[in-house]
Amino acid sequence: MDLRYSLTDESFRKEFRAWLQEQVPRHGAAPGAEDWQARREYDTSWQRKLYEAGFAGPSWPRAYGGREASPTEELVYHEEYARAGAPYVGVNFVGLLHGGPTVIAEGSEAQKERHVRPILRGEHVWCQGFSEPAAGSDLAGLRTSAVRDGDDYVINGQKIWCSFGQVADYGELLVRTDPDAPKHRGISWLILPMDLPGIEVRPLRTFHGEGEFCELFLNDVRVPVSNRVGEENDGWRITNVTLRFERGTAFVSDIYQLQEFLDDLVRLSRRVLRDDASAWDDRGLRREVGHLRAELEALWALVKMAVSEAQRQGMPGVGGSAVKLAFTDLYSRVTELALRLLGRAGLSKQDIDGMPSAESIYKYGQAVSLMIAAGTSQIQRNIIAERILGQPKDR
Ligand SMILES: Cc1cc2nc3c(=O)[nH]c(=O)nc-3n(C[C@H](O)[C@H](O)[C@H](O)COP(=O)(O)OP(=O)(O)OC[C@H]3O[C@@H](n4cnc5c(N)ncnc54)[C@H](O)[C@@H]3O)c2cc1C
Repeated sequence: MDLRYSLTDESFRKEFRAWLQEQVPRHGAAPGAEDWQARREYDTSWQRKLYEAGFAGPSWPRAYGGREASPTEELVYHEEYARAGAPYVGVNFVGLLHGGPTVIAEGSEAQKERHVRPILRGEHVWCQGFSEPAAGSDLAGLRTSAVRDGDDYVINGQKIWCSFGQVADYGELLVRTDPDAPKHRGISWLILPMDLPGIEVRPLRTFHGEGEFCELFLNDVRVPVSNRVGEENDGWRITNVTLRFERGTAFVSDIYQLQEFLDDLVRLSRRVLRDDASAWDDRGLRREVGHLRAELEALWALVKMAVSEAQRQGMPGVGGSAVKLAFTDLYSRVTELALRLLGRAGLSKQDIDGMPSAESIYKYGQAVSLMIAAGTSQIQRNIIAERILGQPKDR
């Protein structure tokens, strides 16, 4: 596939850039991290603006309000979005980046009709109820049970690390529908309405001081069987579709933004003084930045592959694990470089002398979570070794 940008792509770039230049400043600053209702309102109203202007869901079907863009137009979209510093996807992360895409790829017509457009319009916020206290990396070991009773499943169990659970309308829920089958064959993937009786959401506080995560307790929650995506006990296959979106294409804008952040660091290093010279005069630093830049370029080439593969096949391939691993590794190294450049200013959570301390410290902490979220780096290495390189299976 030719991934060079055409004249049509460039004219889309101009149009989207002009719209972003006007709209981003108008949307104002994001609310405080702990004001969840205000965060929901900020993120969803921005999504609504994108939708109304015809800029939501670059790769989503036109039938549900998406743009059905070509792979190159989609890449231009992410480049411009990141370059403009447009609002982070925030509480729409799950719905837009893997819940909605899973419903599009695997859902019934009724499920698509019910859920896809409201996600795109910023009306429905989704969360993910996959992990459990004893099932993270070994996700297929999950125990939350679903027992069929008439037209409902009766759900009992506990989920953890459920991002945005406190403001979500729906959740992607993994349940065990056959306790006697081998663990990968007894799982089903359900759409969980978050307002059902028997659901309790308890926020957890991270070391950032934010309550982004929740525990989810499910006590005799009745979910209609019609909310199941795919066949009963075929949920592990659907889960892999969700995870491919989560690893392969969910971070595209963040990857482009990381390149921009590295450029910011180069500008910063020209201002930072070390022994009467600027930090940029240090050849070692320039070499390090050069290596990081080259690796980011290589990663962007991988992203192009993932985006075009997703469009060809309807979902990203297993190579998304390589994208996620490389991205989080680079994220960690670039943010560590930021703290080294800042020196003592990097110890402050407030900007000192115009140094971006707050942003750098936040990103440095974020690097740790990114290496765990959507499957840890070790798990991505296992997948790359076994499923891409054909190495013997991990015992
Ligand atoms: C920012 C963030 C957001 C998240 N959001 C959600 C969400 O919305 N919904 C949700 O369901 N979950 C979410 N999670 C949870 C996440 O998916 C799990 O934390 C992750 O899969 C790891 O599981 P665990 O925490 O149970 O660690 P464990 O599985 O207990 O792993 C502990 C350590 O052992 C290593 N390890 C385990 N097995 C192997 C192996 N076979 N080979 C090599 N090393 C291994 C791991 O790499 C890790 O270092 C989120 C996590 C983070 C950090």
